[in-house]
Amino acid sequence: MAGVETILTHSEDETSAAGERFAARLAGGDVLLLYGDLGAGKTAFVRGLARGLGASSDDVSSPTFTLIQEYRGRLTLYHVDLYRLQSIEAADLGLDELPDRSSVMAVEWAERWSERPHSAWQIRFAHRGQDRRQIEISPPDSPTPAQL
Ligand code: ADP
Ligand code: MG
Repeated sequence: MAGVETILTHSEDETSAAGERFAARLAGGDVLLLYGDLGAGKTAFVRGLARGLGASSDDVSSPTFTLIQEYRGRLTLYHVDLYRLQSIEAADLGLDELPDRSSVMAVEWAERWSERPHSAWQIRFAHRGQDRRQIEISPPDSPTPAQL
């Protein structure tokens, strides 16, 4: 599929490094929809994103009680994890109002956000055995498989 990139990583650090590199391509207002099973590497990638944006990445984790965490760098990074939410509650969070020109938003378990924007990066994480993970990056406005 045109515009879609696939990366294979072999460690958590490699996944974070992929996120760090990817951060250079982000502009204010960008939304990243992250998909993939538990342990597929979404949070590791976001940790790299924070580092790449010049924010402190040490405390980037899967939020237990906070749904949205904020990290300030070149752009402010909003890290959202919808794992514990029903999609009906996700609709009430007002996520569509969050990103502005000086911030980006990365959303784990994006499928639970029923009103998620079409004009967003879509990043799919998959287990490929042991420490291998596949990361597939689709730029905004690329057709989803369902549309093909
Ligand atoms: P998610 O947010 O998708 O649930 P996490 O990033 O929190 O996943 O966790 C990924 C887990 O898998 C961590 O325990 C990490 O050490 C492990 N792991 C092993 N190999 C990789 C890899 N290639 N990329 C990312 N994480 C990996
Ligand atoms: Mg996570």
